[in-house]
Amino acid sequence: MAKTKTATSKKTVKKINSKKTVAKKAVKKVVAKKAPQKIANNKSKIAPYKSRKNEKYMSAAMKRHFVAVLLLWKEHLIDEMQKTFDHLKTKGETYADPVDRASQEEEFAFELRTRDRERKLISKIAVSLEKIKQDDYGWCDACGDEIGIKRLEARPTATHCIDCKTLDEIKEKQLNG
Ligand SMILES: [Zn+2]
Repeated sequence: MAKTKTATSKKTVKKINSKKTVAKKAVKKVVAKKAPQKIANNKSKIAPYKSRKNEKYMSAAMKRHFVAVLLLWKEHLIDEMQKTFDHLKTKGETYADPVDRASQEEEFAFELRTRDRERKLISKIAVSLEKIKQDDYGWCDACGDEIGIKRLEARPTATHCIDCKTLDEIKEKQLNG
């Protein structure tokens, strides 16, 4: 009796396993057909854009890539903001102990600063998306040169090429120092 039971259960397991493999394959196919996006985990990044040979700077495909990058980033930021908001709400009770209260206030101030930073980034992302629409994305606001794919991958909301940005920073330092 016992032997037959094991055999049956093994068969069932096998069946389930084969079903799983089929399901996995189906998912893989769908993902491959759509964009090769690496969502989740590492800050919701999409794999860097691979330019084709002789591809024009800011081609339609390139623009689509950066739209996807910007949208995913925005989604991630909104998620983060919601988390902060929920945290602030649930931990909103005040402590009687002044030490506890002080550390709580510090924590809240930090979270509010983070939220503020995230909000600013989201509006920058909106500006970048609008620029893509206007065919104005990827070009330096100051000198009109290409900002460059590499720099845009690292900072998708960049509005200045590295030269102008560096110059700005030097000027700023001179003004402040
Ligand atoms: Zn420039």
